[in-house]
Amino acid sequence: MTRQAHDLPERLLAGDRRALAKAITLIESTRPADRAAAEALLTTILPATGKAIRIGLSGTPGAGKSTFIEAFGQYLTGLGRRVAVLAVDPSSRRSGGSILGDKTRMEQLSRNPAAFIRPSPSSGELGGVARRTRETILAVEAAGFDTVLVETVGVGQSETAVADMTDLFALIHAPGGGDELQGVKRGIMELADIVIVNKADGDLLPAARRSAADLQAALHLMRPKHPGWTVPVLQVSALAPRGIEQVWTAVEAFQATLGPAGLAAARRDQARAWMWSDVRDGLLQAFSDDPEISKAAQTLERDVATGKLPPPQAAQQLLRLFRKA
Ligand code: GDP
Repeated sequence: MTRQAHDLPERLLAGDRRALAKAITLIESTRPADRAAAEALLTTILPATGKAIRIGLSGTPGAGKSTFIEAFGQYLTGLGRRVAVLAVDPSSRRSGGSILGDKTRMEQLSRNPAAFIRPSPSSGELGGVARRTRETILAVEAAGFDTVLVETVGVGQSETAVADMTDLFALIHAPGGGDELQGVKRGIMELADIVIVNKADGDLLPAARRSAADLQAALHLMRPKHPGWTVPVLQVSALAPRGIEQVWTAVEAFQATLGPAGLAAARRDQARAWMWSDVRDGLLQAFSDDPEISKAAQTLERDVATGKLPPPQAAQQLLRLFRKA
């Protein structure tokens, strides 16, 4: 297999899906040669990126994320948009690909020529999965997708990572009693730009109304994330589907409120944070790859655990070793 076809950037920029799949394979690879090829590719395509609206979407398992993305994606392609669906799920290997691992979760969208669905990179911890997803966003944008949906499960740190790589973060809830609402982590609610109460249909309609009112009340008590933007709570039925268009209307209203300058400023901050996050990852990697440091670290860990050495002093010793290496 030729690992790095020379016409890959041109084919990617022309919207060739096989080229896109290949580019993402390079991006997700951990082989040093592939990493170098992926970085070269990203540098070449960079001018053609950044034109999509990037939307993060999170909710607990069963809230209806995939059903909603299916309906929302179909609605958006109906408007003539091209939709890429990506996922950040660092636990996907453990749970056997719980998220987007199975394309039948979005049956129509996965067969839709104006849509592209990519499961979460399955290996590694959150930092690595998030980094590869950020790069994949650039690849799908270069291939001409103008709407990027990044899905994540409503557990752990992954919401923050997704909110940091998207323009807008939507939280999707299933109707539930007060108890469930208490389980909604405040920190995650604070990330939300749009809140969606799904399953507002049939017997669940009254519960959906109550949940929407409770969520609205909870949001009122929170510090606004963006001045001038009031987080809407939208009731939809992804299954029907019903109310899907109001989500897109809210996305457009959000864009209009922030304006091109506001959105661009947020992306500049994200780009800077991404660079430093890669520096931190790279430094830690270099640190743990160094056999001399690993050996010393074992002894030093023991020494700080038993109180023989203050942790700051042990850290300084390791850093001195690293600088000499
Ligand atoms: P995910 O785990 O968040 O991706 O949730 P799914 O999209 O797989 O949906 C979980 C369950 O909720 C499935 O049985 C869906 O059929 C159901 N569901 C999803 N959306 C709706 C909806 O709008 N109304 C109703 N009544 N059920 C829904």
